[in-house]
Amino acid sequence: MSTAPSGPDQGREQAFDVVVVGAGFAGLYMLYRLRGLGFSVHVYEQGAGVGGTWYWNRYPGARCDIESMQYSYSFSEELQQEWNWSERYASQPEILEYANHVADRFNLRTDISFNTRVERAEFDEATGTWSVAIPNRPPVRASFIVLATGCLSNARIPDIKGLSDFKGPVYHTGQWPHEDIDFTGKRVGVIGTGSSALQSVPLIAQQASLSSRLRYLELLILLGALQAFAPLSIDMYLPALPVIEKVYTPEMVRQWLSAGRRGAIVRRRWRRSPDARKQTERLGIW
Ligand SMILES: Cc1cc2nc3c(=O)[nH]c(=O)nc-3n(C[C@H](O)[C@H](O)[C@H](O)COP(=O)(O)OP(=O)(O)OC[C@H]3O[C@@H](n4cnc5c(N)ncnc54)[C@H](O)[C@@H]3O)c2cc1C
Repeated sequence: MSTAPSGPDQGREQAFDVVVVGAGFAGLYMLYRLRGLGFSVHVYEQGAGVGGTWYWNRYPGARCDIESMQYSYSFSEELQQEWNWSERYASQPEILEYANHVADRFNLRTDISFNTRVERAEFDEATGTWSVAIPNRPPVRASFIVLATGCLSNARIPDIKGLSDFKGPVYHTGQWPHEDIDFTGKRVGVIGTGSSALQSVPLIAQQASLSSRLRYLELLILLGALQAFAPLSIDMYLPALPVIEKVYTPEMVRQWLSAGRRGAIVRRRWRRSPDARKQTERLGIW
């Protein structure tokens, strides 16, 4: 993977009608659309490839929690017909493949500079243009800037006391390495209880050796999240159940899912999903 800035005429001052920042799904579409409207457009992307969220979040288990069909561009009927999603909720590698396919299919890369972070933009009242600052290059001029920078694209490293002294490797799901990580025999702690934890813990747990305390905490994370998800997305998390059962035993899962007030909430939410109902029947809950 090259980290050298790419793109045309790096040493020369350039001017475009529109500068787009970010080559995620929004940035790719802006480029396609604005080009079609006859504007000169250039996209600057700090990563080495297209896909945004799906370029950065390569952690094990990463996938879409809305149906793949809905997570697709609708601007081209040909594109819609020629692309077949292999799963109902696509995994990160497949979504990234789709983004790359779109970039190639519509020849978008020629107007994207990769490994290029936009640092600043200033509006020049005299000329009525933006001056876009990019490290080690002359500023780029543009009449318009579109910030297709997403709302979750810059990973936030939490300010945890002692984190910098931690001797083991530290990974962030939003900056996951491109190569596989082998967790075999490692003791792994996961900080955070959102979707990324829910998706990655079952897969990491297949390899990792977990202390009982960690097991307990992860059980809380996973089952808490399983309960919380709305009926629509519950289906997507069901494949995690067999893995959770391997790590924690079906009996623990059964107890957790059916206990007290929590049981009532789970029952109410899960009842609406036929697949979820099947799982609860299989586990002998309710
Ligand atoms: C882990 C995760 C899972 C998600 N799952 C779903 C899901 O299942 N369903 C759903 O609908 N949504 C999901 N989302 C939300 C997702 O972000 C959006 O669906 C969508 O991909 C956002 O696209 P975007 O192009 O707006 O932004 P992004 O995909 O975030 O792309 C923004 C791009 O801008 C670049 N950038 C940012 N700042 C700069 C800068 N200064 N200079 C140059 N480049 C810059 C970034 O590197 C990035 O590539 C998820 C988000 C995350 C983080």
